[in-house]
Amino acid sequence: MRESEVIAEVVARNPTLATAGGATVLVPPGDDMALVELRGRRVLVAADQVIEGRHWAPGTPLRLVARKALARNVSDIAAMAGVPSCAVATVALPPDMPDDEVRALAAGLHDAGLEFRCPLVGGDTGTLADAGAPLVLSVSVLAEPGPSGRVVTRSGARPGDLLCVTGTLGASAGFGPGGHHLTFTPRIAEALALVDALGDRLHAMIDLSDGLAADAGHLASAAGCSALIEAGRLPVAPAIGWREAVGLGEDYELAFACDGPPPDAVCGTPVRVVGRFEAGRAGQVSVDADGMRHDVSGLGWEHGR
Ligand SMILES: [Mg+2]
Repeated sequence: MRESEVIAEVVARNPTLATAGGATVLVPPGDDMALVELRGRRVLVAADQVIEGRHWAPGTPLRLVARKALARNVSDIAAMAGVPSCAVATVALPPDMPDDEVRALAAGLHDAGLEFRCPLVGGDTGTLADAGAPLVLSVSVLAEPGPSGRVVTRSGARPGDLLCVTGTLGASAGFGPGGHHLTFTPRIAEALALVDALGDRLHAMIDLSDGLAADAGHLASAAGCSALIEAGRLPVAPAIGWREAVGLGEDYELAFACDGPPPDAVCGTPVRVVGRFEAGRAGQVSVDADGMRHDVSGLGWEHGR
């Protein structure tokens, strides 16, 4: 079963969610975070995990692994234009893991919590039965809407909207120790600045974890339209072609839909118009390159669950 199919199963149960407990569900599963209302206060909540061998290469310092686990969650907070509150984490440890590595994980989570203003306030550890089993680190985060009160979801793009990205794409092409995927800073400040700068002209937003082709597809799907990317406009890392730039993923930049031009930069981070949304098949993403239109709807990182 693919990740998108698992999520579809969860989303299909949505109608029962709104009255399931004490929270009113305002943004259900299927976005970067859920938004719930608790006693009149809106709270964003999400969980995300990293698995050894899948999200980091052997030999990666565990402090950086812990940082990545939290940073991915904080990047989802940025996607909603939220402000981090706190985090909890669970770790499934291989039985033979040395104590100093367990301490490195704990220190990494603590330090990342301070760095991202999202302190670790609880969690749990368990030990795996199989000596060969990979380390798994799962983090859950709580967040609040930013000062404007605006929460930006994946849905809301309209045909004619510009497709824009922050920063550089393809920087995680080297998926090893020391790569961008381990050292990126989630775009919290940039997201809040975009809300301020664009106001109601900012229609939808997502963070780029799966690659622009897939993540623009998520925006287009949610809006029932298609997206067209112009290869010549992509802000690509050195020695990276357009296919890698839209397909590799782990950029942790923001992609957003807006009506009219965005600012050239926010908080010192460049903003680029890379394409536009069009009336077309829902979720279809194409790239204009070399005088041809390439369908890249299938490109990008689909997690194998
Ligand atoms: Mg995300």
